[in-house]
Amino acid sequence: MGEKMLKFVKIDQQTPNKRSIDRRKQDFEEIYDQFINNKAKEQSSRCSQCGVPFCHVHCPLHNNIPDWLKLTAEDRLQDAYELAQSTNNMPEVCGRICPQDRLCEGNCVIEQSGHGTVTIGSVEKYITDMAWEKGWIKPIAVKSEKNQSVGIIGAGPAGLACAEELRKFGFKVTVYDRYDRPGGLLIYGIPNFKLEKFVVERRTKLLKESGIKFKQNFEVGKDASLKELKNKHDAILIATGVYKARDVDIKGTNLENIFPAMSFLTASNRKGLGDKVKLFDDGTLNAENKNIIVVGGGDTAMDCVRTAIRQKAISVKCLYRRDKENMPGSAKEVDNAIEEGIEFLWLSSPIRFIGQTKVEGVEITKMKFTGTDSSGRKKPIVLENSEYKLKADMVIKALGFDPENLPKLFNSEDLSVSKHGTIKIDSKTMETNFSGVFAAGDIVRGASLVVWAIRDGRDAAIQIKKYLHAIEDKKIQAA
Ligand SMILES: Cc1cc2nc3c(=O)[nH]c(=O)nc-3n(C[C@H](O)[C@H](O)[C@H](O)COP(=O)(O)OP(=O)(O)OC[C@H]3O[C@@H](n4cnc5c(N)ncnc54)[C@H](O)[C@@H]3O)c2cc1C
Ligand code: SF4
Repeated sequence: MGEKMLKFVKIDQQTPNKRSIDRRKQDFEEIYDQFINNKAKEQSSRCSQCGVPFCHVHCPLHNNIPDWLKLTAEDRLQDAYELAQSTNNMPEVCGRICPQDRLCEGNCVIEQSGHGTVTIGSVEKYITDMAWEKGWIKPIAVKSEKNQSVGIIGAGPAGLACAEELRKFGFKVTVYDRYDRPGGLLIYGIPNFKLEKFVVERRTKLLKESGIKFKQNFEVGKDASLKELKNKHDAILIATGVYKARDVDIKGTNLENIFPAMSFLTASNRKGLGDKVKLFDDGTLNAENKNIIVVGGGDTAMDCVRTAIRQKAISVKCLYRRDKENMPGSAKEVDNAIEEGIEFLWLSSPIRFIGQTKVEGVEITKMKFTGTDSSGRKKPIVLENSEYKLKADMVIKALGFDPENLPKLFNSEDLSVSKHGTIKIDSKTMETNFSGVFAAGDIVRGASLVVWAIRDGRDAAIQIKKYLHAIEDKKIQAA
C-alpha cells in the first residue's frame, strides 16, 4: 500500500479545472470539468489511509472513503464504484453538490496538517460518472418479488433512495409526486450549473427500469388522502420535503416583482428542461436587463444570484444580515458567486421595499454583531442611523423554508407534527404516530442536505422492511 498511497507530501492538491468565469457565465452548464483518469488516480493516492478516518465519520452516509480512494489509485475503478455505491444511492450527485468543506473534506487529516484535503467529492463523481459511461450501473433485477407493496410520497432524494433500497429487498414500490418529473429539489430547485439534469434523469430512468412505478402529477391530499393510500399499500413513506417559503414582514412586501426563490429557480430550471414557462417567456421571472437584489445567505440565495447573473442581469446584489464567515451555505459556492461578479452586502438587512405597484428599490439598514444567539451563532442587530437605498427591478426572497401544514393538506389532522411543523417520528423505527406510515428527509429534519435525505431514505427502507417482515410473520403464525 505504501507505494501507491500517502503521496500527499509529494503531490499537491488539485481539483478538476473550473471553466473560465467568462465562459461559465454564458451558459448553465456545470462549472467543473471532469478529472482525467490519471489525475483521479494521482489525487486519490494522496490519501493517508488513517486508522480512524474522520472523512468517513463525518460523511452522513459513512462512505468507505479511504477504501475507494485506494482502489481508484490502483486503477481498480469498477471495484471502487461498487464500494462507493454500496453506501450511497447517488454518489455522482453527492460528489457534485455536497458541501464537502463541512463534511468529508473538512475533516480530512491531511487538510488539518496543511497539505490540502484529498478531493474526495471530485473522485466520487469521477468514479460514478465512469461507471455510467462503462455501463457498470444496471437496473435492479428482482429474483422473487414479494406480495407486499410500499407507497412513497415524494420523489426527492429521500423518497428515491428508500424506493431503490426497498426494491432491492424485493418489495413492490410506487412513488407518488405532485410534480410532473421525479427528482424533487434535484430537478426544480438546484440549478444546472451545480447539477445537470441528465444526471438526475438517468437515475430515475434506472429506477423505472428496476420495476418501481412512478405516479407524477399526483398530489396526496388532493388526488388521494393519506388514509386512502395507506389502504392501498402495506406501508407508506412520507418524504415530501419543505416548501413553505419564509417571508420578511416589512412594508412593500406585496409589491409586484418580488418573488420567492423557488418560483424564480423553478422557472429557470423548467426553461433549461425545454418547457414553455409563460412567466419566464413574458419577462416576469427573467432577470435579463434588470437590477436584482437577493435577500438571504444560504445555498438557495447563492443559486438565485448565480442564476440571475447567467440570465444577464444588469447587476446582482446579495443582502445578508451576518458576514461572510457566518453564512450558512457552502463556502465553495459563496466563492464561486463572488468570482462570477455578485456583489455581497454583508451585515445588511432590508427594512422596506420601495415602489408604487412594482418594486423600484429597497431601503436597507446596516447591522452589527452583539453576542451570540441560543444556537451559538453571532447575533446581528440594527446599526442605528445607517439606512440607505438601492435601486431594484426584481427582488428575490431566499430566506429559507418551513414545512407546509401537512396534517391539513393530507386530510389527516391527527398526524403528529412538531411545533415547527416537521413530522414527528419514533427515532428508532422512523414510524409516525400512524402504524405503518414512516417519514424521512427534510419533512422530518427541516431544510437540510441531499446526503442526509439519502441517508434517511436508506434508514427508512430498513425500518419498513422490518415492519413488513413482522406483519408476514404474524400472518404465518396465525395461519
Ligand atoms: C435551491 C436549493 C438549493 C439546494 N442546494 C443544495 C446543495 O447544493 N447541496 C445539498 O446537499 N442540498 C441542497 N439543497 C437541499 C436539498 O435539495 C434538500 O435537502 C433535499 O432535496 C431534501 O430531499 P427530500 O427528498 O426530503 O425532499 P425534496 O427534494 O424536496 O422532495 C420532496 C418531493 O415531494 C413532493 N411532494 C411534496 N408534497 C407532496 C404531496 N402532497 N403529494 C405528492 N408529492 C409531494 C415534491 O413535489 C418533491 O418532489 C438545496 C435546496 C434548495 C431549495
Ligand atoms: S456523500 Fe458527500 S460527505 Fe459523503 S463522501 Fe461523498 S461528498 Fe463527502
